[in-house]
Amino acid sequence: MKPAPFRYHRAASLEDAIATLASAGPDDDVRVIAGGQSLGPMLNLRLVRPTVLVDIHRIEALRAIEPLPDGGVRIGACVTHAQLEDLPPGGAFSAANPAVFPAGLADVLRHVAGGIAYRAIRCRGTIGGSLAHADPAADWPSALAALGATIELTGPAGRRNVAARDFCHGLFETAIEPGEVLAAILLPGSGIRRWGRGKHCRKAGEFAHALAVCIDRGGDGVEVWLGATGAAPVAIALDRAFVDGVAGSRASAALRRTRMRERIAASLPAAIAPGDAYARHLHAQVAAEAVIDAMANP
Ligand SMILES: Cc1cc2nc3c(=O)[nH]c(=O)nc-3n(C[C@H](O)[C@H](O)[C@H](O)COP(=O)(O)OP(=O)(O)OC[C@H]3O[C@@H](n4cnc5c(N)ncnc54)[C@H](O)[C@@H]3O)c2cc1C
Repeated sequence: MKPAPFRYHRAASLEDAIATLASAGPDDDVRVIAGGQSLGPMLNLRLVRPTVLVDIHRIEALRAIEPLPDGGVRIGACVTHAQLEDLPPGGAFSAANPAVFPAGLADVLRHVAGGIAYRAIRCRGTIGGSLAHADPAADWPSALAALGATIELTGPAGRRNVAARDFCHGLFETAIEPGEVLAAILLPGSGIRRWGRGKHCRKAGEFAHALAVCIDRGGDGVEVWLGATGAAPVAIALDRAFVDGVAGSRASAALRRTRMRERIAASLPAAIAPGDAYARHLHAQVAAEAVIDAMANP
């Protein structure tokens, strides 16, 4: 199938994109297109029939990865998964920019980005498009919530920030209001002590059936964020003493994972895969792997 006819506008700047969205007539359905890796197939299948597409992919200001004055990092919405996968080792922003990422952050970004789909999709698909699309099985929503990211939205009323943990409201639902563009992702400057990740998919490159990210910044508790739950990402808080006890125990790796899984399973919200014991087991297992993986990091 081919898409239904639409008008196409390549935005020269974020302001141009917002003005074009705002100028839509009452009968127009205007949509932003970034990498087109999710919207393209939806257009071809005629699941959506926008009358106007506003292409933001070439807006230079949305393609930058920059250090922030407070030590954090700003990632433009149109930065591709491949750009993040290719961040230089050692945490530098680029070969030309010797400023370094907060400890551990570049490793997490590289790892999450590199696990998305296939390289061809990663070269076009963007971090902002992935968040805005809010497929519950996507990798970024749970990872950015775990990283404590803030999402920067710009619209006719100006700029506003939303915490990544509050950004996804459910299946393909986000905090983005009509006329707004997701402009950037802001990551905090505090270093990551340890991190771990779990992902289960039937075939490499496919969307996950269960996802989990655990970021340990050394506080009283340890949080693990679960994705691919069918709705918005979910956090499970674990007691530091319990996590350290399991991680430091002399039990076998399999037994440590089982203890962690049982503890997480006991806290798994009832709304996750209700009535599907296998899926609930999988979510708890993958989350346990993320925590054990994090604790195994020095
Ligand atoms: C075969 C296949 C396998 C995949 N596997 C995975 C996977 O394992 N994990 C994973 O996470 N993803 C996966 N994806 C999705 C991929 O990561 C896409 O990059 C991502 O979902 C959408 O990004 P995009 O830039 O292509 O957005 P687009 O397709 O251009 O847009 C998607 C939606 O977001 C809106 N949008 C885009 N950018 C903005 C913005 N800045 N502001 C406001 N709205 C915006 C668009 O209007 C549209 O509704 C897969 C895709 C394919 C085709």
